[in-house]
Amino acid sequence: MQTIAVIGAGQMGSGIAQVVAQAGIRVLLSDVEIALAEKARSGIEKAMNKQAARGKMAPEEIEPALSRIVPVGEYAPMKEAQLIIEAATEKEEIKRKIFEAVGPFLGETAIMASNTSSIPITRMATSSPDPARFIGLHFFNPVPVMGLIEVIPGLATSRETVSRTRAFAEHLGKQVVQCEDEPGFVVNRILLPMINEAVFVLGQGTASIADIDKGCRLGLNHPMGPLELADFVGLDTCLDIVRVLYNTTGDSKYRPAPLLMKYVEAGWLGRKTGRGFYDYSGETPVPTR
Ligand code: NAD
Repeated sequence: MQTIAVIGAGQMGSGIAQVVAQAGIRVLLSDVEIALAEKARSGIEKAMNKQAARGKMAPEEIEPALSRIVPVGEYAPMKEAQLIIEAATEKEEIKRKIFEAVGPFLGETAIMASNTSSIPITRMATSSPDPARFIGLHFFNPVPVMGLIEVIPGLATSRETVSRTRAFAEHLGKQVVQCEDEPGFVVNRILLPMINEAVFVLGQGTASIADIDKGCRLGLNHPMGPLELADFVGLDTCLDIVRVLYNTTGDSKYRPAPLLMKYVEAGWLGRKTGRGFYDYSGETPVPTR
């Protein structure tokens, strides 16, 4: 592929744009307004400089990679893209509106993919011009660091779309896990109930934030505790995913923890807002409870 587009320039869209540009592919990057895509590009520049300082990227690769990231304020230029990746907020109505709006600019053989963490692919495909060329392409956070991509064909996705999407993911240097279009796919189906349960444990006063995370780091050999990880993912995104699991299965085991809803209502969304289960305003994160 020579050109792709990314819609939604938040944590994930920025990370996706970065790895795609580093793999030598041009990226048209958009958000609700071009200023947000431009801001994301500056963030990517900072991230690349940090990587170079740590010896994980050659300094001379920064400028060429950055020049491949082009902020755009409308969908028309995306007719050049061989793949359009939607990475906007985890709300089905937002995503559907995006697919409908960008649909007229989807090239004749181009693929439309969603980076959704949990919303059914088969259902969203009905808002795209050609469900045979619609697929789930689920990156992990932070995209430049995490080695996995889940590839999720919907009911109508063609074999050709699957093989082209897998080839793209592998070209980025990622490993692929392919799975059926079931709520939460594989990793989030397992991870989100764990995060949600950790918030129940916290809400019931069983242990402190620090001890819940310490327990899971040392007792499960996880590199990060579930509450630290929730802050990384974004508490709004966690809640959206748990709600999708609950609403699509109707299984009460996925009911969202009340304290998770409270943190989201407070606007404490994790690292991206400077405060979630931990406060990130100082040198080191401090638990909020
Ligand atoms: P985020 O809040 O950091 O970014 C979302 C971005 O979407 C924002 O910049 C917002 O302005 C933009 N947006 C909202 N409406 C839009 C519209 N109509 N058009 C264009 N842009 C719009 O969220 P995120 O963590 O980057 O998550 C984005 C997607 O990636 C979600 O579907 C999420 O489930 C998925 N995802 C998240 C993670 C994670 O760990 N955070 C991991 C894998 C997948």
